[in-house]
Amino acid sequence: MNSEQLQILLTATQKTARDHFGVELRFTQITEVPIETLFNKIPEADRMEAAKHIYDFKSGKGDPEYLAQEFGKGLRQMGEPLAAMVEYARPYLGDLKENSYESLGAAMAKLQLSRVELWKTVPAHDGGFAIDASSYNESQMWIALGYGDVPYDLVLTNQVIASVEDVYPAVHAAIRGGYANGITTYSKQSRYGTYAVWSTFAFNSNESWVRQIREGESYSPEDAARLAGIGAAHELGHQLFHFSHPFANSACIMNPVPMFNYLAWSSKLSPKDCLIGSSPAMLPGASKFGF
Ligand SMILES: [Zn+2]
Repeated sequence: MNSEQLQILLTATQKTARDHFGVELRFTQITEVPIETLFNKIPEADRMEAAKHIYDFKSGKGDPEYLAQEFGKGLRQMGEPLAAMVEYARPYLGDLKENSYESLGAAMAKLQLSRVELWKTVPAHDGGFAIDASSYNESQMWIALGYGDVPYDLVLTNQVIASVEDVYPAVHAAIRGGYANGITTYSKQSRYGTYAVWSTFAFNSNESWVRQIREGESYSPEDAARLAGIGAAHELGHQLFHFSHPFANSACIMNPVPMFNYLAWSSKLSPKDCLIGSSPAMLPGASKFGF
């Protein structure tokens, strides 16, 4: 995004944080850092640890059978209610062979692997593809970045973050082909011990697969910036309050967008219908992930 868009984005984040959380954010001057410089800050040991969990869909060396099994195991370990996940996934996965974590995991692994291929074909702004041989698309590496000497609370990137790993299988991630708009995770250096990375790619690109995942929505540069700013406030809810996801309440900024139809999603937001403490997920400290 250009500097004008970035200002629109941050102003929207400020307003959304004020409306939903009663927090007054002040941003410092934006510092632009080449992604290569940033990724060079990942400590070697953390880079190697992250690499262990990355499923290699780029060279074809990954084993889909192994991934299917790990997804099943992971879902069973996390123990979220099976019926709700099967229901959420039904439009994308169809009926399962049987209702079990293993069967759901296998179907999710298959879907995620087929859809991550679509991200590989999306053109990037530099003339290459959105996913290339570099590890910039890997969410495990963005998590590892928090262990480096990185002082930022919020990192905005135009890089696609879409990947497959053998840990933390998630239904919504499988449906999106492993794509994450944002990740809030541990940070060694930032003030609150967490940092959030937020990708502008799915807002700024109007490629056909991106529009499909936005369920047909198309954005002007101003809308893209404003909607990305509203969406970024979701990560700040994780970061500043450790809120979780109130899936049942579409008034909440913390209710994740299922696909990327941010126009439809943001039109339902209503702070007075989702007060802090109004549901278990909206209690400060509700989320333990990554902190
Ligand atoms: Zn979230």
